[in-house]
Amino acid sequence: MEEIKIFCPATIANISCGFDVLGVALDSVGDEMVIRKTSKKGIFITKLEGQDLPMETDRNVAGVAGLAFLAESDYEGGFEIEIYKKIKAGSGIGSSAASSTGAVWAMNELLGRPFSTSKLVEFSMEGERLASGVAHADNVAPALFGGFTLVRSYAPLDIVPINCPAELFATVIHPQIEIKTSDSRKILKTNITLKEGIKQWGNLGGLIAGLFTEDYDLIGRSLVDHIVEPIRSILIPGFNDVKTSSLAAGALGCGISGSGPSIFAFSRGEATAEKVAQAMKDVYQKIGIDHDVHISKINTEGIREIK
Ligand code: ADP
Repeated sequence: MEEIKIFCPATIANISCGFDVLGVALDSVGDEMVIRKTSKKGIFITKLEGQDLPMETDRNVAGVAGLAFLAESDYEGGFEIEIYKKIKAGSGIGSSAASSTGAVWAMNELLGRPFSTSKLVEFSMEGERLASGVAHADNVAPALFGGFTLVRSYAPLDIVPINCPAELFATVIHPQIEIKTSDSRKILKTNITLKEGIKQWGNLGGLIAGLFTEDYDLIGRSLVDHIVEPIRSILIPGFNDVKTSSLAAGALGCGISGSGPSIFAFSRGEATAEKVAQAMKDVYQKIGIDHDVHISKINTEGIREIK
C-alpha cells in the first residue's frame, strides 16, 4: 500500500474526575487525512484545508509526531501528509491529537505495522508537546485505541482501555471563544488537599467501575470534578447554566471537554443526547455566543481507514 485515507476522531479529555488521565473518542466528529509514501526521506505536509495552521513540518503536530516515528523506524523513505481539518484548533476536543495520531497511525499501516499502539501514543505525545507545552496522552490514547482510555502511568507509559456501555452518547458544545491549552493550564493550582484528593479518586474509581459494569447511575454520580472544573470554568461564559440545563434535560453528567471552551455531557441514549444539545444551544443563544454542537456515539475503534 502506497497511500491511505483516514478518519481521525475528535476526543474528550479529562472527563470531569480524570484530569490528564482519562479520554474518550467520538464517532461523528473528526478530521480526514491522506498519507502517502515518498522516496525522499522526511515528513512533508503538502496540503492543509479547513483551518489556518502552520504547514512547516516542525510547527505542525502531524509533522512533529511523524518525525518522532521516523527517528525510531528503519524505513529509508518519507511521507507526504494532506490534512483536511474539520475540528477547530483550540476547541478542546483534541484537534491537535487528531492530526498527530492520524499521521503516525497511517504511517504504521503503510509500513506493515512495525510499532504497537502504545508506541504510537508515545510518538503522538511529541505532537501534544508542540501544541500545549506538555506531552499529555489523554487525547491521543483514545484516538488511537478507541473508546475510553485511562493513562494509568506516564513513566512508564501504561494505557488501559476501558469498557464503553453501548447506550452512552456524548453531546459537545463549542462556544466560539478562544482559550489556549497553555493558558488554561497556567491558571491551575499545583497543590491539592488530601480532602480534595479523596473526593476525586473516589469519583474516578466510581466512573471506571460504572463504565465496566454499565451502571449509568454510577457513571452519572461519578462525573464530578472538585479540582479543575471550579477554576477552569471561570474562563467559559455560560458554563454553569449549560451544566444546570444539561442535567435538567436528562444528562448523566456534564463538564469541561479537555481544557475548554467546549463543554461535554454524557447521556443514556441518543434521544436524551439530542434534548441535551437543545438545552445547551438555548443557553448560548440567550447569551449571544456563536456555537457548534455535536452529538455522537462513542467511537470504539479509534482512527479508521476510509475510502
Ligand atoms: P485542542 O484543545 O483542540 O486539542 P490545542 O489547543 O491543544 O487544541 O492545540 C491547538 C494548537 O496546536 C494550536 O496552537 C495549533 O496552532 C497547533 N497545531 C499545530 N498543528 C496542528 C494541527 N495539525 N492540528 C491542530 N492544531 C495544530
